[in-house]
Amino acid sequence: MPIETIFDTMEYGTAPEDRSIALQWIANHGGLIGPYVNGVFAPARDDLAIRNPATGEKLAGMTLCTKDEVTEAVQSARAAQPDWQKAGGPARARVLYALARLMQKHARLLAVMESLDNGKPIRESRDIDIPLAIRHFYHHAGHAQLMPSALSDRVALGVCGQIIPWNFPLLMLAWKIAPALAMGNTVVLKPAEYTPMTAMIFADICSQAGVPPGVVNIVTGDGSTGAALVDATVDKIAFTGSTSVGRQIQEATAGSGKSLTLELGGKSPYIVFDDADIDSAVEGLVDAIWFNQGQVCCAGSRLLIHEAIADDFHNRLKARMDKLRIGDPLDKSIDVGAIVDPIQLQQIQALVQANTAGQTYHAQTPVPEGCFYPPTLITGLHPADTLMQEEIFGPVLVSTTFRTPAEAVEIANNSKYGLAATLWTENINLALEIAPKLVAGVVWVNATNLFDAAAGFGGTRESGFGREGGWEGLQAYSKPRQPLPEPAQVTPFTGQGAAADDIDRTAKLFIGGKQARPDGGYSQAFFGPKGQLLGHAPIANRKDIRNAVQAQLACGWGKTTGHLRAQILYYLAENLAAQTNRFAERLDAMTGLTTGAEEVRAAVDVLFTYAAWADKFEGRAKSVPMRAVALAMREPVGAIAALCSDQHPLLGLVTPMAAALSTGNSITLCASAPFPLAATDFSHILEASDVPAGVVNILTGPQADLAPHLGAHMGLDTVWCLSGAELTQEVQARASSNIKRVWQGAAQDDHDSWLDAGTEIKTIWIPYGE
Ligand code: NDP
Repeated sequence: MPIETIFDTMEYGTAPEDRSIALQWIANHGGLIGPYVNGVFAPARDDLAIRNPATGEKLAGMTLCTKDEVTEAVQSARAAQPDWQKAGGPARARVLYALARLMQKHARLLAVMESLDNGKPIRESRDIDIPLAIRHFYHHAGHAQLMPSALSDRVALGVCGQIIPWNFPLLMLAWKIAPALAMGNTVVLKPAEYTPMTAMIFADICSQAGVPPGVVNIVTGDGSTGAALVDATVDKIAFTGSTSVGRQIQEATAGSGKSLTLELGGKSPYIVFDDADIDSAVEGLVDAIWFNQGQVCCAGSRLLIHEAIADDFHNRLKARMDKLRIGDPLDKSIDVGAIVDPIQLQQIQALVQANTAGQTYHAQTPVPEGCFYPPTLITGLHPADTLMQEEIFGPVLVSTTFRTPAEAVEIANNSKYGLAATLWTENINLALEIAPKLVAGVVWVNATNLFDAAAGFGGTRESGFGREGGWEGLQAYSKPRQPLPEPAQVTPFTGQGAAADDIDRTAKLFIGGKQARPDGGYSQAFFGPKGQLLGHAPIANRKDIRNAVQAQLACGWGKTTGHLRAQILYYLAENLAAQTNRFAERLDAMTGLTTGAEEVRAAVDVLFTYAAWADKFEGRAKSVPMRAVALAMREPVGAIAALCSDQHPLLGLVTPMAAALSTGNSITLCASAPFPLAATDFSHILEASDVPAGVVNILTGPQADLAPHLGAHMGLDTVWCLSGAELTQEVQARASSNIKRVWQGAAQDDHDSWLDAGTEIKTIWIPYGE
């Protein structure tokens, strides 16, 4: 037979990985797995069956942990936490290093077990999941070592409850446990019901690595176990999973004082410009949507292809799809493995079957019986079609076309999610123009699905908040050393005295750059300590909030340069300083104190400080172990509303405003409720200082009436609750409407925390080399 014919007809042989090592591990544990608490495996029960999705065979029985068992695990973590923290960063570094080393020594067992349990191809678990998980522990051993010097002003949160999904079981465990332990926290982790096995091996490794009892606890079970962990007396919940459960958790933790980070779903765009290297972009797409059977939160599941190359691209993509090999996950030459569970398979099938738009193409490749689904491409969809908007979480790519870069950005951002984005172009100028415009926590240029422990990962919009990995990920597992005192509540003075001014002055709201009467037409009288009438302040309502947020969304402040923002903040300082006496008198008259002049000087200083930071609060270029730079860019969080503290009517207004403006955000300030007249006076300073319309809006009125509307508003990205726990709870209870960030402020001089609260890291990956 001629060699050419041999090449044309050559078939892959099978290359099965030996599974006996993993099955033996299960047998050694009596075929049952259960909670790992206080350094030992508790007796396990056969409450739920863990199955190999590729064959349906039962791998093990699993304990469904009850509320009491979760409580016991949390108590164990609580008891262990003080000593773990006191042990110090370098001692923790040794333990994390030992964990990394031992995971490396058991890498093959972990990889085989992951593929058996989850259905992912062994070449992915062996070459991606497990090495990345190990790298996470090495990297965070370093963070533990450096904590005393590099993060000396921060301490552990305490006990962290961590809930992870089934798509990357060990990798998600590593993303959660490594930073938590490095910062001195102890953890209770709940793996997903479908995929607990590698977490159990990890528990075994913890015992070998000298992790003190109680520092790592693992509770097995289903959603009810997760819900019990959310309710338990933990200091933080870190969750990765669906947006719907993330929303429930945000509601359940409202007002509890628990820290929260949410890494949720996505519908990430994959944009291919007409000058892209098409074959590379096709190959990238294979990794974007068929990696892990498309069960990836940041999967490039929405192809946006330039109209001029769409037909050619789709044809080459279909040819590539037909070559993908689907089958036994433990076969080393398999590209696409099993879907995690028949229920997930049914969801994928139902979503695709319900779609009547576009043309559906299934890869022409043999699909085994059982829990398998062929790589699928749906072309000709419109941006508003259901499958362009909803996460399928399976190997299904949807596609639409665009004509100009501006249109590509518009379609890409037309989503409730904002997790990741990929763009392909040979024009680096175009790439660096487009990357900042994409609403996403991670952007890959001419590559996709690159991850590393040094580079932050996380979303925006309904993809959640908080970052995992890198320096930014440590913020979520530590807090300032000095606790923030609860802001004092102040009652306004009452009175019936004569007006303090000869001529009546009408204070108004400040919305969209204009003085505005309150929509409701109500005002409230304010009196000085001796009962004299100081003036009336308008009472804002829901419609005033709506108008203010609309003005914020149209203002374009986020696109300005740091230099321009600094100039305007300095100008504000200049104009406020020129009015020192007037403001000082007003403050003294409202509060009955004599500290007005001091407060004005402090406010001027704050404006100078944040003006200074405006062009200096920079990102980093991350050192990742590959031929790429990962740029950690600081981006504004967007539209902020602040409930200003009662005390310090001017300083409490100017500080959030200056921090927000410095970092490129617009802000609606709900002024000090008992002393609002300094805020209404301040609007004249804003008018005189070239602040563009809508960048700063000032509302007055009872904050308790405004707080629920701020919490529920879909246009606001963040609410800063600076006036106390009660209103924080009000806002948090409604913040899940659009998965809003809620922040309770920092000490006046903790500038880093204020600036951090105004920014989120976007990681832009740019590979280099020929
Ligand atoms: P879930 O969000 O339901 O599960 C994630 C984790 O949360 C699991 O450990 C789960 O436990 C647990 N959990 C479930 N309900 C609760 C609750 N009320 N309180 C606390 N914890 C809870 O995702 P699923 O695994 O059910 O997948 C459903 C969909 O979610 C997928 O189709 C996909 O769209 C999306 N998803 C997104 C992921 C991402 O990375 N963004 C990852 C996985 C899924 P248990 O597994 O035991 O039910």
